[in-house]
Amino acid sequence: MTDFASAPTADPAATTFDTIVVGAGVSGLTAARFLAQSGQRVLVLEARDRTGGRTFTERSGDVATDRGASWIHGIDDNPLTAIVNAFGMRTAEFTVGSYQPTGRPIAYYSPTGERLSDDAVAQFADDVRTFDAHLATAVQASTLGSSYEQAMDAALSALGWNPDRAERVREFVLHRSEEQYGVHAGLLDAHGLDDDTVEGDEVVFPDGYDELASNLAQGLDVRLEHVVTGIRWSKQGATVSTAQGDFTADRVVVTVPIGVLKSGDLTFEPALPEWLTHAIDGFEMNNFEKVFLRFPTRFWDESVYAIRQQGEAGKWWHSWYDLTDLHGVPTLLTFAAGPSAIEAREWSDEQISSSVLDALRGLYGERVEHPDQVLVTRWQDDPYSYGSYAYMRPGSTPDDHDLMATPVENVLHFAGEATWTDDPATVTAALRSGHRAAENILGVALPFDALTAAL
Ligand SMILES: Cc1cc2nc3c(=O)[nH]c(=O)nc-3n(C[C@H](O)[C@H](O)[C@H](O)COP(=O)(O)OP(=O)(O)OC[C@H]3O[C@@H](n4cnc5c(N)ncnc54)[C@H](O)[C@@H]3O)c2cc1C
Repeated sequence: MTDFASAPTADPAATTFDTIVVGAGVSGLTAARFLAQSGQRVLVLEARDRTGGRTFTERSGDVATDRGASWIHGIDDNPLTAIVNAFGMRTAEFTVGSYQPTGRPIAYYSPTGERLSDDAVAQFADDVRTFDAHLATAVQASTLGSSYEQAMDAALSALGWNPDRAERVREFVLHRSEEQYGVHAGLLDAHGLDDDTVEGDEVVFPDGYDELASNLAQGLDVRLEHVVTGIRWSKQGATVSTAQGDFTADRVVVTVPIGVLKSGDLTFEPALPEWLTHAIDGFEMNNFEKVFLRFPTRFWDESVYAIRQQGEAGKWWHSWYDLTDLHGVPTLLTFAAGPSAIEAREWSDEQISSSVLDALRGLYGERVEHPDQVLVTRWQDDPYSYGSYAYMRPGSTPDDHDLMATPVENVLHFAGEATWTDDPATVTAALRSGHRAAENILGVALPFDALTAAL
């Protein structure tokens, strides 16, 4: 156990610190909070005019819309669960956030637009589970550099199903890799979904995920609108440059997304070691956007969590999530993910909305209403992330995630969702990686439950 000294009071004019944290997302704030609790002088430099990074909630009246993360993908054995509960954040069960074939009621529509019977859905879900068992074997047998799509096709051909049966499962699994990782399966390493397990229920946040970052930031010295452009480092410490001036510290925790690390917008002098740049190169930011549509009434199937369209009609828009119960406003959420996000990137919000509505008309005909509001995210064009989260390119290995967190001369520490192997691309990964960075710097084990204590 560590003694948690109280954090020194922030001096707004100070430029010298024990640790500087670059980025006020969940990973950066977690690291900073643990370090400040141990008595360190900590500065958090954040490019945006807000904390939270890729947890970002927009509010209108009583309705909170999460433009970034929505789900805790599995609340069991997850330190995030206890932390959001300790902060008093309201949650709602919504266990379809990991592209499950079934488990909660889902309305499936056949390629020709008929709703599948319960028996047909159960048979289809069995097919997906049978396929997944074969896929796990194919992934294990895959050679370095092969893609998830290659492993998929090896698994499918081993099953020898008739073309229609095989195609329904193949399209489902393609859509799963697009929704889970925002990338076509042909561009994802065969091991790119190894971590894709959900322990327990999934939950979302009716009052907004950003409450997590707001709570974590309480009492910390966070300077917003400070874009870090360069880090000069040596064994003795580092100088961090921003347009507002330079800041120095013994150590720096860098939590910017992979997209920023690869952009060249933030330079390191001397350059990062080859083993680290090699690991970073193995990842890529994805193409993944949310589209929220709010309607006057709920014209779609009652009592389902989600609606899925099979076949060619679902090539672009295939899955809709019913968020109505969160705020009492009839709302569907769908995703532009992988190829559809790349295609729709240049489209206006009106074009995207009209394309989604056309797809919905294939299911509900003239019952489809004109939406009162459409919200489209633009993470691909965000200069502080360049995408939603990172995926493994063919040739990278799962361990490259953790490798990125190996401290460099005990001065540079990297954290963030992409640096956590077990469940990357999540808020949980961000939290755990920030915790690990603080433990590496302090050289002691830090109990998670201390994080929520006041500073
Ligand atoms: C659309 C979308 C949906 C998602 N859905 C889920 C979900 O349902 N469940 C889930 O668990 N996860 C989800 N995620 C992923 C999750 O949001 C991230 O994994 C997590 O929030 C990342 O936290 P982080 O601290 O690693 O990075 P970030 O939150 O990106 O924090 C890094 C910070 O660094 C800042 N920064 C960048 N460049 C600079 C610079 N040069 N100088 C200073 N600061 C800089 C950024 O502004 C940012 O605040 C989703 C993400 C998106 C975008």
